[in-house]
Formats: sequence, C-alpha cells, structure tokens
Amino acid sequence: MVDLKIGIEELNTCVQCGLCLPHCPTFRITGEEAMSPRGRIRLMQEIQMNDRPITKEAVDSFDTCIQCRGCEPACPSGVPYGSLIEQTKSTLVEKKYLLPKWQQIPFFFLTRPRLLRFFTRLLVVAKKIHLLPNRFAMPENIPIWDKPLRESGNDVYLFTGCVMDAWQRETHRSSKRVLEHLGFGVTPTGDRIPCCGALHDHAGLMQSAKDISQKVIRSLSENELPILVDSAGCGAALKEYGHLLGTDEANRFSARVFDIHEWVAEHLDVLQSPAKLPISVIVQDPCHLRHVQESHEAVRLVLEPFVETLIDLNDDGLCCGAGGAFSLFQPALASQARERKVAGIRAQSHDVVASANPGCMLHLQQVGVNIKHPMEIIDEALSRGIQI
Ligand code: SF4
Ligand code: SF4
Repeated sequence: MVDLKIGIEELNTCVQCGLCLPHCPTFRITGEEAMSPRGRIRLMQEIQMNDRPITKEAVDSFDTCIQCRGCEPACPSGVPYGSLIEQTKSTLVEKKYLLPKWQQIPFFFLTRPRLLRFFTRLLVVAKKIHLLPNRFAMPENIPIWDKPLRESGNDVYLFTGCVMDAWQRETHRSSKRVLEHLGFGVTPTGDRIPCCGALHDHAGLMQSAKDISQKVIRSLSENELPILVDSAGCGAALKEYGHLLGTDEANRFSARVFDIHEWVAEHLDVLQSPAKLPISVIVQDPCHLRHVQESHEAVRLVLEPFVETLIDLNDDGLCCGAGGAFSLFQPALASQARERKVAGIRAQSHDVVASANPGCMLHLQQVGVNIKHPMEIIDEALSRGIQI
C-alpha cells in the first residue's frame, strides 16, 4: 500500500469524461487508456483510495507521461493534472519504483555549472568521434571555449539556466541584444543561478526542485527586478514556484517572472520604421509556453513585425516529445511524438521553424528541422538594420 500524497479532492475533480484524450500525445500514439490522462488519473485514484498495488504497468503508465500538460486546458473540470503527476512521480522516486540512483547522476551536474561545462566539452568530443548514441540530442556547434554573458545594466535579469547556458548560449546572446535594442540594461543570472529545478521536478526529484527554488529566490531577492526567461520550460517552473513552495515569498517571486516574448511584446513600440525579413516562419508552440504559461500568442506578436509570413502549425498543439529528459528515458515514444510534429512541419512550405524552448529546438534539430529561437530571428532582423 503506497500513499501517493495526493489530495482526494483534487483526484475526484476528474469526472472521467475523456475530453482530454485527443489532446494527449501518448494516447494519440498508442490508443491505450493507460497512456491517457484519464487512465493515469484512474490509476492514481485506485492506488490512493483502493490500495491498489503499484505494478510495473502502473509505473510505466506514469513514466510514459511526457508532462506536456496538453490535457489541462482541455479539461472542463479543471483537474490540476500537472501537480497530480509531479507528486505521483515524486512518491514513486522516493519509494524507488522510478529513476534509480544511476539515472539521477545527470541531475547532479545541472546545479554545478563549471562541471556541466567541463562535461559538455567531453560530450562535444565524444559526439565528434561518434561515441554517443544518435538519440542523444546536442547542438553541433557548441564552442569548446566560450565567454560568459556580460552585464550591460540593471533594468532586468535575463535568466540563463543550466543546459541552455552551456549548450545554447548564442540564443541568450540574441535575447540580450534584443532587450538592449529596446533600451534595457541586462543582468544575466549566469553561474550564480545555475538551474531553476524544472528538470528535477519533471523527473520526480521534487525535494531537489524545492531546494533549488529556495536558492533561486534568495539569490534574486536583493532587488525587485523583472526576471525574463527565454526558455519556456524554465519560465513555467519559475512561474510555478509559488505553487511548488506554497509561500508568500515564492508567490511574490513568481509574479516577477516573464517569458521574454511577453516582455518584448509590451515594449515593441519603441522601435520604428517597418521592414521585414523575406522569410516564412512556422511557429512551433512549446507545451510549457502554450499550456502552462499560456503566453504563446506573444511569440506571434513579436515575430510578426519582423518576418514576411508567419504560419501556424496545424497539429492541435500536440507535444513534440522532447519533454525535459523524456527523450532520453523514453526514446521510442519521444521519437513517435516527434514524427507527428515533423510531418506537420514538412506539410507546410516554410524557411524556418521558430520555437521558444531549448529542449524542443534540440529534439527537432536532431532530425534535420531548420529551427531557431524567435529571439534569434528578431536579433538577425535588427542586426540587418530592420526596425519596425
Ligand atoms: S482529466 Fe478532465 S477532461 Fe480528462 S477525463 Fe478527467 S475530467 Fe475529463
Ligand atoms: S501531460 Fe501530456 S502526455 Fe501526460 S497525460 Fe497530459 S496530455 Fe498526456
């Protein structure tokens, strides 16, 4: 008998209507009830309320959830699925049903930026000599040596995070230049805030996520600057610190967090004179921007003045399969979800895909999708002297 530590009231908000099923990528791929939000919630209910034992099938059902949260906005009863699955996974890790110690090793490096950069260099070399499995997604062009971002003022923080700062620092550079173009002095958070804890929470390491979030709040509490985030996953985690910790301090912190597109959209009017890059751009909504932060429309608002054509993907906002470390631990399902996404992308003529999440970018780049962060596209337009 295992207590999942989920409130019965929250569990009982699910009326088993099934309206969430078409919005669930793992259900769409497999057609299996156990791979759907309704099936997973029913399992939680049986374990929590009817003392159902935790079988391998139950563990698989929870472990194969991408935690994209596409089921949440589709649910008429307002089931808080994200917190239900996070708590369930946390309990399963604690009781040793999930994520054995050796699988927890990579998470140790996320909060140690120097070690992370050191191992990144080793990975770059290993990738070059084909020692890494193909499913291991990392950019081709990570420099062996790279300078950290420098502070240009103290109007806003730019949250730089862990893997993104080690692997995709050029995207942060673009974000910083765009913000400076809008007149903001930028303080990159850099090594003093090495990680937001999103990947830990996602994997079921909830206590680690809580410890990290408390450090982040303390480190950024010396002033009340807005905290801008160019990673949808990190932004969602920072905005949910209030929920994770349940304190007033955490709620106040979360209120200072903005996805960078929300912020740029609010300040675009300082730029003048219309001209557009002659390209067509497909917008790929990261799940944590669309379903959790609900700020995906801001990406369109900020791109629209800079590019000739913006195209919406006709894919019901389904997840690409990246899902934090999901593509590492569930490679088969992750690549099936990606195939669906890539088919949607290839069905529409375009020059580039824009995605505001580093994990989605890596996952899709791996199969040859030409993908950029929206800030990189705007930075390019601004560097060519294109102003709106
Ligand atoms: S999670 Fe919501 S949409 Fe899905 S079955 Fe339960 S009540 Fe219906
Ligand atoms: S979070 Fe995503 S994968 Fe998990 S049940 Fe909901 S829609 Fe399905």
